[in-house]
Amino acid sequence: MVKDRIDTVRENIKAACIRAGRDPKEVTLVAVSKTKPIELIQEAYREGIRDFGENKVQEIVEKHGAMADDIRWHMIGHLQRNKVKQVIGKAVLIHSVDSVRLAEQIEEEAAKQNILVNILLEVNVAKEESKYGFLLEETEEAILKIKKFPHIKIRGFMTIAPFVENSEENRNVFQKLFQFYVDMKSKNIDNVSMDMLSMGMSGDYEVAIEEGATIVRVGTSIFGAR
Ligand SMILES: *Cc1c(COP(=O)(O)O)cnc(C)c1O
Repeated sequence: MVKDRIDTVRENIKAACIRAGRDPKEVTLVAVSKTKPIELIQEAYREGIRDFGENKVQEIVEKHGAMADDIRWHMIGHLQRNKVKQVIGKAVLIHSVDSVRLAEQIEEEAAKQNILVNILLEVNVAKEESKYGFLLEETEEAILKIKKFPHIKIRGFMTIAPFVENSEENRNVFQKLFQFYVDMKSKNIDNVSMDMLSMGMSGDYEVAIEEGATIVRVGTSIFGAR
């Protein structure tokens, strides 16, 4: 049941926070509802979940229209430039900004709609060929370009860690990104707030929290296999 699974995930989040000496209020659980039907999302909503993650613009648009207004939709998947226009007013946070060109497009559309768009830069920490995102060593340069866009606010970073059998294997990926996040925060760059670090999925969210995640994106452990 979705309810029992959410209870378990929430307990695990709390336990990971306690192990790390963190306040559980610092960690936002985003329930990743991609491919899942409205009825299942409603179950999670009844348990108090308000943050939902989707990886397709079409699905955000449909579900946004079909569900309660107090839901915060998170765009977590690769975003094509021609779909920016449809999603920016509907998602509270775009986790997956993976190029300066995409940020430019977001700026252009956000200016037209006269809104401010909160984004995370996706970082491919483990340099996997199959993944989108900036390499760690390219990310500061990207920040310095994107910070000039008045309709965009950079809030932090997102990463998708490698698929591994044992989540401990991803600990150093999370440590690296946390260290970079702290470095960037300490620079106090204009128009960059560095208060969100989105890392950890069903297989590794507890380790990610121990290493400083402020947002975890959990799908399978809440809604079952896709
Ligand atoms: C699907 C997805 C998740 C959730 O993955 P699970 O392993 O099902 O928890 C998290 N982040 C991103 C970017 C995803 O695409």
